[in-house]
Amino acid sequence: MAKPQAIERFRKPNLPTKDCAVCGRPFAWRKKWARDWAEVKFCSDRCRGDSKTRTPADGA
Ligand SMILES: [Zn+2]
Repeated sequence: MAKPQAIERFRKPNLPTKDCAVCGRPFAWRKKWARDWAEVKFCSDRCRGDSKTRTPADGA
């Protein structure tokens, strides 16, 4: 299921960006977020996991 995507090789410098809700760093649009970019709040799965599991009981 390897579908050639022109977008992959044609990197636009002006991709939309957001600030991560966990680490606060800006991150750029990714293809895997194409469908739900509006819902994306975290720069990575790691940050998303942090936001979920970050509890006082965890101590960290
Ligand atoms: Zn982050």
